[in-house]
Order: sequence, then C-alpha cells, then structure tokens
Amino acid sequence: MKTPALIAVLLLSMAPLTLPGSDPPGVASTAAPSWSWPLTPRPAVLRGFDPPDKPWLSGHRGVDLRSASDGGPVTSPESGTVSFVGVVVDRPVITVDHGNGLRSSFEPVRSTLAKGDRVAKGDTLGTLLVGHCGATPCIHWGVRRGDEYLNPLQFVTDLRPSVLLPLTRDPPG
Ligand SMILES: [Zn+2]
Repeated sequence: MKTPALIAVLLLSMAPLTLPGSDPPGVASTAAPSWSWPLTPRPAVLRGFDPPDKPWLSGHRGVDLRSASDGGPVTSPESGTVSFVGVVVDRPVITVDHGNGLRSSFEPVRSTLAKGDRVAKGDTLGTLLVGHCGATPCIHWGVRRGDEYLNPLQFVTDLRPSVLLPLTRDPPG
C-alpha cells in the first residue's frame, strides 16, 4: 500500500538532480557570488528579478530587498566609485561603478556621497527611504553590465538550485 507513495517521494527528491542545467535569465555564468548584501541583517527578497523580453516593455530590472528597519543604512555590496547621485524622475538614486563594467544602483536612497567618491565593500552609501514597496521599507537594487541588466542576487548567492555552496575561504594573502 505504501509503495506508490514511496516511489513518488523518491521521484520528487530526485527531480532537482535530473533537471538539465540552465542559468536563470540575467545570470552571467562567470559570476562568483562574492559580494555582500547591501542591507544588514540579510534581507528578504520581496520581489525578484524579472527582466522584460524587450527593452521597451515593463518588467522588474532588479530586486527589492526588505529592510529590517525604516531609514536603515544601505551599504555598498562591493568596492567601487560613486558614478551618480541624484533624483531620477521622483526617486533618489545612487549608482556605484564596481569596475569590470558592473554598476549597482539603489533607490530610494538618500546619500551624502558625491560623484567620484570611492567606497569600500560594506561602506554606507546612504539611508533607505520608504516608498518603493508601499509602506514596507525596501530598496530596489539593480545591477548592470553595460546596458544589460543582471540579477543582483547572483553576486551575493549561488542561484544554481542543485549546488550547495560551502562557505569559501579566501586564499591566504
Ligand atoms: Zn523594485
């Protein structure tokens, strides 16, 4: 009597291993998840990366991360140079150029930094403002390589579902 259920469980548990490997949209296969989360503690993802099929269509060109507190600090996930601070339409935005063509943008964030300022990984970029997720405090984080939007989560976590990523140690030196 229990055999069919057991087989079903086995099949379900094996399913992830038998799926063909494929990267989610916007994932650069060479990316190593070495950045830090821009919020502390590690934020929940309220809305994931959902790029449109065509540039002129609507979509979600980044991720929304929930902050544990209103007005909490937003930190740089990787070192870089501030390339933009200002208001886009009605949203205060800060952009950091990380080199290698990669840029992070955060909104809505109030910042006292200026274009050209250098930031280290973990440095405070500014203060989170409420508004992107209604009354829930969140930041929208977008990552671009050139004009292409990438999924920011690939830089802080490994998105491949069948791989458990161990904590890696930095090489000595
Ligand atoms: Zn968003």
